[in-house]
Amino acid sequence: MRVGFIGIGYMGRHMARNMARGGHQLTVFDIHRETADELVAEGAAWADSPRAVAQASEVVFTSLPRPQDVEEVARGEGGILSGASSGTAYFDLSTTDPATMRRIDDDARSTGVAVLDAPVSGGTIGAEGATLCVMVGGNQEVYERYKPVLDLIGNKAMYCGPLGTGAICKIVNNLIGMSVAVVLSEAFTLGVKAGVGPETLFEAVSKSSGSTERMRGFPNSLFKGNFEPGFQVDLAAKDVGLATDMGRDMGLPMELSNLVQQRYIEAQARGWGTLESSAVIRLQEERAGIEIRT
Ligand code: NAD
Repeated sequence: MRVGFIGIGYMGRHMARNMARGGHQLTVFDIHRETADELVAEGAAWADSPRAVAQASEVVFTSLPRPQDVEEVARGEGGILSGASSGTAYFDLSTTDPATMRRIDDDARSTGVAVLDAPVSGGTIGAEGATLCVMVGGNQEVYERYKPVLDLIGNKAMYCGPLGTGAICKIVNNLIGMSVAVVLSEAFTLGVKAGVGPETLFEAVSKSSGSTERMRGFPNSLFKGNFEPGFQVDLAAKDVGLATDMGRDMGLPMELSNLVQQRYIEAQARGWGTLESSAVIRLQEERAGIEIRT
C-alpha cells in the first residue's frame, strides 16, 4: 500500500518506520527536512509538502504537536485535503481535540476523503516497539480496512465510535496521567522529606494499591535526574489544556484539573517546555527543598 506520513518527530519516526518495515511504500514530509534523513536513507520517498504526500498516497497519517499544526497541515494551503483524491483515508495520530477533527472532516466531505482521529498512547518506547494503543474515531468500515496498517504501530488498536471519540478517550487518558504526575510529586516529596528514600518508597508503592503506570517510569527518569524527552512538558501542558478547555465549553467544573494545568504552565514558564514531562515534579522538589534522586 502507498502510505504517507507527516510529522517525523519522537513518535512519528518510529511509527513511520514500522509501517515501512511492514512492507508499505512510504512517502514522508516534515517542516524540518533533516528529521526524515534516516527514513529516506532506509528507502522512504521525500515529498515537499503535505499536498505532495497526499498525491502519492492511498492513506495518509499525521503525528504533529498541536491541534493548530494538524489543522494547518490538513486544511491549509498546500495541505492534505488539497492533494488527496477521493477514496483516500486520513488518520491523525496526534493528540488533538474533537472540534479540530470535525472542522477537518467538514472540509473533507466534498473531496471524498475519509477523516479519522487515531491518537496513540504508549510513549516513544511503545512507538518503537509497536505496542501502542491506537484509539480510533470515525467511519468503522474505513477503520477495519486500514486496521492491518494500524496493527504495525500498535497491538492495542481499538474502535471508539464516531469521529472525535478517539480524541476524547486520549484526552481523558492523558488528563489522568498528567494529574497523577503532580500527585506523585507531592506524595514522593512527602515521603523523602519524612526520611524514606525514593527506592524504598517506589518498592512499597509498587507492591501496594498506589502503584501507577506513571510511577513505573521514575527509575529511568526522575530518580536519575534524567529529563530527556520522550514526551515534552509542552505537549503535557497542551493535553491538560485540551481537557480543561473541553470542560469549560461543556460547563463542567474541573477544579483539580485546572490546578494541574497551572503546574504545567509554570514548568513551561521556567523554560522547561522541551524537557520530559516529569520535569514538572521539579517544581514540588523546589518547594520541598529536596530532590527525589537515587
Ligand atoms: P515532536 O514535536 O517530536 O514531533 C512533531 C513533528 O512534527 C516534528 O518533527 C515537527 O518538525 C513536525 N511538525 C510540526 N509542525 C509541522 C507542520 N506544520 N508540518 C509538518 N511537520 C510539522 O512530537 P511527538 O512527541 O512526536 O508527538 C507528536 C504527537 O503525538 C503530539 O500530538 C503528542 O501529543 C502525541 N503523543 C506523543 C507521545 C510521546 O511520548 N512523545 C505519546 C503519545 C502521543
